[in-house]
Amino acid sequence: MTTVGPVDATVIPRYGGPATFARLPRIDEVAATDIAIVGVPFDTGVSYRPGARLGPGHVRMSSKLLRPYNPALDVSPFDALQITDAGDLACNPFDIDAAIAEIEYGADAITGTGARLLTIGGDHTIALPLLRSVVRRHGPVAVVHFDAHLDTWDTYFGASYTHGTPFRRASEEGLIDREASMHIGTRGPLYGSGDLADDRMLGFATITAPEIEIDGVSAAVERMRARIGDRPVYVSVDIDVLDPAHAPGTGTPEAGGLTSRELLYLLRAFGNANLVGADIVEVSPAYDHAEITGIAAAHVGYELLSAMTMDRATT
Ligand code: MN
Ligand code: MN
Repeated sequence: MTTVGPVDATVIPRYGGPATFARLPRIDEVAATDIAIVGVPFDTGVSYRPGARLGPGHVRMSSKLLRPYNPALDVSPFDALQITDAGDLACNPFDIDAAIAEIEYGADAITGTGARLLTIGGDHTIALPLLRSVVRRHGPVAVVHFDAHLDTWDTYFGASYTHGTPFRRASEEGLIDREASMHIGTRGPLYGSGDLADDRMLGFATITAPEIEIDGVSAAVERMRARIGDRPVYVSVDIDVLDPAHAPGTGTPEAGGLTSRELLYLLRAFGNANLVGADIVEVSPAYDHAEITGIAAAHVGYELLSAMTMDRATT
């Protein structure tokens, strides 16, 4: 299969060229897409610092330096499959319910062409409509959720749909496989021990950030593989899973997080998984410095695309 890859960096230098992710073609520039990267500029669901609505453009800007060959996985993702940038989904900034419906509809429109989605947020609220869309095609999925936070709270100021609640709603709606889903990288203070009890009831196992430090990334990969098995997997990466030293540009930072090196290693494990979709959320560029967060998010995207080109998933 012939694919159209990124703009040739020996012809147009990396700081120029199109503003798409990794300088890839737009979805309307090729006949068919295997994996589409789509932005969701929505942050009306945040509880603390705003700004993730500007995340998609920032991550695209920080992705210009990505190169075609991934030595860690021995794969050239842009050759293996046709990957394109589908631009941003339009969604209502003043009405969360309307935005959720629009995101679900927009995701369906792209996956309906046979493409898998890598979504760049946006705050974590968007994971709910993205999961609804992916489950319509694949049935309930094993969700592997990288985050400092559980995001299984019930309501906040009476609101059911916020960036702190998507995985409770997803579990209630039957979108997640309760035998196979997990959080990775959680840490920090909670409202009470009941938060953890609720979370287990909703179907999540957990590998905390301190456990990754003590037992190492290899042990975390083994636990992850045992948990997800052969099931279809959806990966959701809240960039605040990284320590604020590795991702200052985010809305609800928590000390004691993963390094970007640890996160990228963990993501490579999905090269052997049935990865049906993924998102990267909570990049808030106004709090970033020297593109630290943007570059981390761009590399997270690159590892997820690499894993998607290796795995056994079908659209
Ligand atoms: Mn978080
Ligand atoms: Mn989150």
